[in-house]
Amino acid sequence: MVFDVVTLFPGLFSGVLQESILGRARRAGKVAVRLHDLRRWGIGKHRQVDDTPYGGGGGMILRPEPFFAAVDWVRREYPATRERVVLLSPQGSRLTHDSARRLAGFERLILLCGRYEGVDERVREGLADEELSIGDMVLTGGELPAMVTIDVVSRFIPGVLGRKEAAEEDSFAQGRLDSPYYTRPPEFRGRAVPEVLLSGDHRAISRWREERAHEATRTKRPDLLEGDGQLRRC
Ligand code: SAH
Repeated sequence: MVFDVVTLFPGLFSGVLQESILGRARRAGKVAVRLHDLRRWGIGKHRQVDDTPYGGGGGMILRPEPFFAAVDWVRREYPATRERVVLLSPQGSRLTHDSARRLAGFERLILLCGRYEGVDERVREGLADEELSIGDMVLTGGELPAMVTIDVVSRFIPGVLGRKEAAEEDSFAQGRLDSPYYTRPPEFRGRAVPEVLLSGDHRAISRWREERAHEATRTKRPDLLEGDGQLRRC
């Protein structure tokens, strides 16, 4: 799976893409990320990418032409059949476990990162297939949301996670939260690891995990449950 990211600040991505699971996935060729500097398609001698908003108001808006030119270039240079153009925006539909799984089914995602007061509306209307938000807050740019998207979508690509880390057990996979975990030491500052986890009884352990997962969901995220306390199927 390939992510083509169009951004004014490609330098922001390096740490996230090099380290740990994403770094390993890239080196193993499971995931590729190509960063495209929007400035390259800037206008005129100064490679201008932004301008003041029509109608007044403060701040700068990213012009549409560089985004359209960038996407044309990416498509020409790296043709892909099953692709999606995603505009990161606080006004988009929410990125979730389910939308990440859906996006992982594409061959390539083109991620468009806004900055400043945002992006000329014609990018949303005429270029993006969808608008995606990472939550109801406004960040200073689309780069962190793009990195979040790359991270969560990558977890659904076969071979990115080891079998032990498989996404199936994690929170939201079955519409509920994950169970709590403990590791060594068996006792820490007066708090002991639950007996059952040390018992070696796998049936009892899996029953315990199921119960604790349900309890975590009920207490921390009751909105994930139906009114009758049953799991809401996604
Ligand atoms: N004026 C805009 C916000 C612009 S924030 C508004 O109020 O709707 C600048 C850029 O940061 C956006 O263009 C978008 O690309 C990115 N961004 C900010 N918050 C985001 C969020 N919650 N999810 C995804 N992208 C976001």
